[in-house]
Amino acid sequence: MIKVSKNLESIPASLIDRKTDTRRNTCIRDRKYHQKRDFHQRYKQLDIKEALQTIYHKKCAFCEQKIIECRDNNLEECSSTVEHYRPKSKYYWLAFSWDNLLWCCYRCNHNKGNNFEILADEVYYEESFKENIHSYAQQYQEFEKPKMIHPEIESVLEKLSFDDGVIASKDKRVQYTIGMCGLDRDSLNEKRQTIIDDFKESLMDKKLKNESIEILLKTLLDAFKNQNNEFLALRYWILRNYKSLKH
Ligand SMILES: [Zn+2]
Repeated sequence: MIKVSKNLESIPASLIDRKTDTRRNTCIRDRKYHQKRDFHQRYKQLDIKEALQTIYHKKCAFCEQKIIECRDNNLEECSSTVEHYRPKSKYYWLAFSWDNLLWCCYRCNHNKGNNFEILADEVYYEESFKENIHSYAQQYQEFEKPKMIHPEIESVLEKLSFDDGVIASKDKRVQYTIGMCGLDRDSLNEKRQTIIDDFKESLMDKKLKNESIEILLKTLLDAFKNQNNEFLALRYWILRNYKSLKH
């Protein structure tokens, strides 16, 4: 998980057009999200997907692995989906809200499902919400105190550890997010372990040759700064903990 910044002023046109407005108003009128194709299609328009892809550098909001566009009938681990941070089944008025849409892999999205526990009071729809329907996340976050980390609002870099590639945290909310999305699944642990092993190998090599590890650390720092890379939180953790990596 890495914090991602989204410009809430730059809303994809499909989210503010007449068709989407009609669907949104229908959901608000009926006080529920309609599980129908012509509703689903409104948050899956090409301009929305392209904007999310750019913002998320083609990576999943939660597990940080690269994801690709797949046909709906071919939902694999690495296929991309438009995820609702607050589930549309409950927060029906946010089904087409820019700040509620994340770029997510099929597996994390599927694992998270409609799970969304909060520690404070629940937000209920109010007529005045229509005015800023695309930018309520921050305000809702403070009010509801959800257990799930919002990757566009919070940075949890300092709260993660990756011993043996396994993502973990002492923070209860980060633990909840890891559990809900299944961020400690084997396929991800293995990918992360490979990055750790490669780094350890290079480190050993430098030590054997009695060479400085400065360039190695600089390369790792550059890899962390390059937002196109997968698993940036892991790279950050290695940078801080390389001296105590297990051999
Ligand atoms: Zn994912």
